Amino acid sequence: MKLSKFKNEPFTDFSKKKNSQEFAKALEKVTSRFKKEYPNTIGGEKFYTDRKHYSYNPSNKEEIVGVFQKGTAEMAIKAIEIANNTFHEWKNVPVKTRVKFLVEAAKRMRKRKHEFSAMMVYEVGKNWAEADGDTAEAIDFMEYYAREMLRYNEGMSVVSNPGEKNKCEYIPLGVGVVIPPWNFPLAILVGMTTAAVVTGNTVVLKPSSDSPAIAQMFFELLEEIKLPKGVVNFLVGDGSAIGDLIVTHPLTRFISFTGSMEVGLRINELAAKKQPSQIWIKRVVAEMGGKDSILVDSELIDFNDAVKGTVQSAFGYQGQKCSACSRVIVDERIYEKFCEALVEETKKLKVAPAKENPNMGPVINERSKNSITEYIKKAIDEGGKIIHGGMDYSENGYFIQPTIIKDVERDATIAQEEIFGPVLAVIKSKNFDDGLSIANNTVYGLTGAVYTKSKKKLEKAERDFFVGNLYLNRKCTGALVGVHPFGGFNMSGTDSKAGGRDYLGLFMQAKSIAQKVK
Ligand code: NAP
Repeated sequence: MKLSKFKNEPFTDFSKKKNSQEFAKALEKVTSRFKKEYPNTIGGEKFYTDRKHYSYNPSNKEEIVGVFQKGTAEMAIKAIEIANNTFHEWKNVPVKTRVKFLVEAAKRMRKRKHEFSAMMVYEVGKNWAEADGDTAEAIDFMEYYAREMLRYNEGMSVVSNPGEKNKCEYIPLGVGVVIPPWNFPLAILVGMTTAAVVTGNTVVLKPSSDSPAIAQMFFELLEEIKLPKGVVNFLVGDGSAIGDLIVTHPLTRFISFTGSMEVGLRINELAAKKQPSQIWIKRVVAEMGGKDSILVDSELIDFNDAVKGTVQSAFGYQGQKCSACSRVIVDERIYEKFCEALVEETKKLKVAPAKENPNMGPVINERSKNSITEYIKKAIDEGGKIIHGGMDYSENGYFIQPTIIKDVERDATIAQEEIFGPVLAVIKSKNFDDGLSIANNTVYGLTGAVYTKSKKKLEKAERDFFVGNLYLNRKCTGALVGVHPFGGFNMSGTDSKAGGRDYLGLFMQAKSIAQKVK
């Protein structure tokens, strides 16, 4: 089997009338799904409960985008058991067949990409370009992992030993629990799920409670391509209610998690404890939060480019990206001028319901809005000065203005904790080295960027800026599959490098086989 060379899915150009008209149609079309109720699907069987879970549009909090089941403990246990039974068949399905499922799913998603993106506009408040980028990334993950699996299928190259025939091949692990977040509710969910499946594992997929509707659309796509029943088991449910059960189940072989540090650490701890009848050490792939910095030097190639890159990184998708810039560290020689320019650039951003395709839509839910507001208050209490935004002006949705707070101390709460909203802390540094030490002063290590024209300083950043994804003279968001393998250091996670060549290895184990020959 040979596939064409991997290419990233192009983004849609919405300045073209035809594209924006087609997107508007898709926005209309997906509303027909809103009133429907969707089951949990385990081994192909549909399950309903009396307790319903409603997914709402954060731009319009009364609008329901889908009705789901609150998964129960019985369903969770059944899902693991079915996944375990199915594993014994799925692991023997030829790699080429598994790969074909991914290629077919990618093809069908590409055909209907605006419908997937439109659902994210409603369910998680992405503007059109952000939603389009999310769908493109989901397609990329499937295309990339399909090709990667063919490569892994050739096995690990080994040194030959006289008198022996030697090989080392990759085999799957078993039942995986896949727990994605809501902020890339298609891309990350698809990437985590298909990586596990193409490597021969079976999965219990528990989507985020904030984004089950887009997850359901992907699950329907898997049904459409006739992925065998039980390979992916779809279980909507409250993470805090069923999460522990699926993580601790003795038949669970690995957990693939993306989300907050708090939940990731809890999963890691629970997974480490051996349960009665458990016969393996569970593998945990946990990608967690960030407190990402952009470091701005006094000598720049292009001042405006640094300002624009900071604003885009801080406020794209309302600052709700794990890679978002939440701290800009600016050399004192250009500090005041940079603050003024940040405000001017940010004034251009329009906040409105996501359907209207503004620069910024709502934050995900009320809890998030309240938490972000609390952080802004705390920043002021700790001496920060608001120079833009600072107020929410919610009407029907959870809107927060892009907020810039200057004179933030390097160890202040908003300089240390992940806020996950449109709040940018500006921190003054004495010089480049001081700035670099501030950039490295949190428990996280996900993304970072440096703007400088000095070659020496760039080299220093390459060596000493301790993040999994470093960007030089460009923004710190927008990682592309295959181009920027993604994952962070320290409390940002296990550095799995999703969308990179090592990723699929995390879902397999290697078996060395030596045969004596004459
Ligand atoms: P979250 O609150 O940690 O939730 C993530 C997932 O974990 C959800 O599906 C959630 O389900 C589930 N969950 C919650 N409690 C659980 C438990 N006790 N056991 C098992 N699962 C449980 O994170 P989020 O708010 O969805 O996402 C935002 C976070 O993700 C941020 O910290 C962001 O930085 C991080 N993130 C990291 C990356 C990366 O690559 N490093 C990428 C994207 C996002 P419920 O929704 O049902 O509670």
